[in-house]
Amino acid sequence: MSDLRFDNRVVIVTGAGGGLGKAYALFFGARGASVVVNDLGVSRSGDGTSTSAADVVVEEIRKAGGKAVANYNSVEDGDKIVETAMKAFNRVDIIINNAGILRDKSFARMTDADWDLIQAVHVKGSYKVTKAAWDIFKKQKFGRIIMTASAAGVYGNFGQSNYSAAKLALASFSSTLAKEGAKDNIHCNTIAPMAASRIPPLLLTNRHPTITTTITITTTITITTTITITTTPSPPRTESIMPPDVLAALKPEYVAPLVAYLCHETTKENGGLFEVGAGFVAKLRWERSRGAVFKADDTFSPAAVGAKWGEITDFSNPEYPSSVTDTDFLSLLEQAKNLAAN
Ligand code: NAD
Repeated sequence: MSDLRFDNRVVIVTGAGGGLGKAYALFFGARGASVVVNDLGVSRSGDGTSTSAADVVVEEIRKAGGKAVANYNSVEDGDKIVETAMKAFNRVDIIINNAGILRDKSFARMTDADWDLIQAVHVKGSYKVTKAAWDIFKKQKFGRIIMTASAAGVYGNFGQSNYSAAKLALASFSSTLAKEGAKDNIHCNTIAPMAASRIPPLLLTNRHPTITTTITITTTITITTTITITTTPSPPRTESIMPPDVLAALKPEYVAPLVAYLCHETTKENGGLFEVGAGFVAKLRWERSRGAVFKADDTFSPAAVGAKWGEITDFSNPEYPSSVTDTDFLSLLEQAKNLAAN
């Protein structure tokens, strides 16, 4: 297969000032696309703003002979990012919803602000950018969208209840857009990436438990003060933990090929969810047990559920539903009737 190109395509990459977003922006820029490099220039927890992150990436793309413009809006103002693309290039073809931050805390310590900010940046931000381009995509009968989930969203992860809720929301948002967009050649896929960037791979985030330190200060006039400090240290820097060969494989650059493949005009994949990182790409899907059927009468009790728990959780002969219509209620009703007749 000759390498796929993106000439005449306009790509918006959100959060493209660093990490994975930067890798995507450079990748598309080197393959003929015009790139809108969006970045608000915030810290990992969403504080501050800066224009330099986006500017540096634009400069790098242009120096290599590519076409790029910067945008410094928050993804929460997604319409302004799409406006930048329309002003500069007069079209939009591909959106990579990548911008993200973390506010990791155990659920007991989570505040409303930690919860709301994560939903606002990840879920509302992806919604706002995508919504602003949706009619353009429909009119031109072409659009490719990537949502960025996380293994934390798929499997859950200690200290990331806000983030995991937002990340899995994006996967189901994507499944619905895939269904709504298919007739207009709008495809939406989701990735759960893993890369050694500022938002560290999950295998590292599990290694920063809360530490409680007790310091006892005794002064000469025998006053004793005890101070207890509770801190959640930043995750250790990836470089200090990973062996060099693993670090090399975890480069953000090794997530870009899947993202670009999913966004190409010849790619049929739509509505998929992929884990990608360190040279590994795999598709995820729902698996359902064959389940158990109960008589729909007052014999359907908690004890009856318990009695069939083995059947309910038996995955030896699974199904793989991908749509709400993949449940054959007529056949289930028929089975229930037969039970009732026995
Ligand atoms: P990163 O921190 O290196 O880059 C994120 C970029 O997004 C930053 O440059 C930041 O300024 C920008 N940004 C943040 N909030 C923004 C906003 N409101 N509007 C515009 N820009 C904003 O992070 P990364 O590791 O490259 O992660 C990129 C995406 O991948 C995120 O959505 C993250 O949740 C997801 N992810 C990463 C990993 C990983 O292993 N790195 C794992 C799972 C998911």
